[in-house]
Amino acid sequence: MPPAAEAITHQSSDVDRPYALYVHWPFCVSKCPYCDFNSHVRETVDQEAWRGALLTDMAHEAARTGGGPLASIFFGGGTPSLMPPATIAAVIEAAGRHWDFAPDIEITMEANPNSAEAARFADAAAAGVNRVSIGLQALHDDALKFLGRAHAADEGLRAVEMAQGLFDRVSFDLIYALPGQSEADWEADLTRALAMGTGHLSLYQLTIEPGTRFETMVRKGDFIPADPDHGATLYELTRDMTSAAGIPAYEVSNHARAGQESRHNLIYWRYGDYLGIGPGAHGRVMGHATRRHKKPENWMTALSAQGHGIEEETPLPADERVTEALMMGLRLAEGVDLRALGERLGVKADVDRKAAARLQAQGLVQMDGERIIVTPEGMLLLDAILAALL
Ligand code: SF4
Repeated sequence: MPPAAEAITHQSSDVDRPYALYVHWPFCVSKCPYCDFNSHVRETVDQEAWRGALLTDMAHEAARTGGGPLASIFFGGGTPSLMPPATIAAVIEAAGRHWDFAPDIEITMEANPNSAEAARFADAAAAGVNRVSIGLQALHDDALKFLGRAHAADEGLRAVEMAQGLFDRVSFDLIYALPGQSEADWEADLTRALAMGTGHLSLYQLTIEPGTRFETMVRKGDFIPADPDHGATLYELTRDMTSAAGIPAYEVSNHARAGQESRHNLIYWRYGDYLGIGPGAHGRVMGHATRRHKKPENWMTALSAQGHGIEEETPLPADERVTEALMMGLRLAEGVDLRALGERLGVKADVDRKAAARLQAQGLVQMDGERIIVTPEGMLLLDAILAALL
């Protein structure tokens, strides 16, 4: 059982930093074959019960962090664009009662670009959403079919256009390194994507995750994933093209014009405090890690029984916090200032200096005073670099 909210004490000077609030909506119309997110397909959803449950889960987090300020709210999933706009509005309104909103609060909704969901964009904007992140994933019908997506290519493009007319900030996702995708294919797609003029792009290589339908298909020989060297070539092409277009990578897979970065995700990567509500949501707050019940029904049962959906809550020892902060922060192009991190967490933050020197000589890491940065070449080997440094 998690400790009572009052029992938690601040462990660092993080208290003045703004919080990010993540809200997980776990339902999708179908399960994409590459997806290992906490997403579920259900015949029906009791919308009223779900709205009440999210508000109760939020109130629990607010009891210990109330006041704020809140820098961002992020509706993720699953498919949060399937949420009734009244639920989105109720969550935002309740958050505004629990916490002060930062003047430039970012309120993001992930969305799928089929026409039915795009038709709800205006309602989401009216509810207070000011940024949308659209799961476009591909620009061709055959690729969308392979990825198991429920929308057509032209429908997706229309949804992006519609969003650009409604929201201050728009991002969309594309998946590359699809089987059979050549360098020229991806270059043509990325050229089109950049021409759409959004301020943010999330560009992911297709990875075959354990437990997904794609994993089974690869095992059965239904398709062969892209060769890692080819994936690396496409990754470098992606970095070059996005930089040249003024929308460079600020994280391994995320690209933005200056000032258009996802403020919510920057709080994760800079290891700020974030609260997570809804099934499977994680939080890092006041030196504690929270994890909520993953299965929607179990989360609902926990809420009824204990007034929140937390399955596990554990204090994070200082060395674990440093490790987590480095694992997150080294994903960023800005890297991590070790001295500043140590001061913030109230503990010495360091890496294996011998390993850092070796990696620097190989051009994979750059030490700039106390700031450590993984170079673009190093980002391709991030897991191995982290293992060496930590
Ligand atoms: S829509 Fe998104 S969350 Fe839902 S199954 Fe597909 S990839 Fe996963």
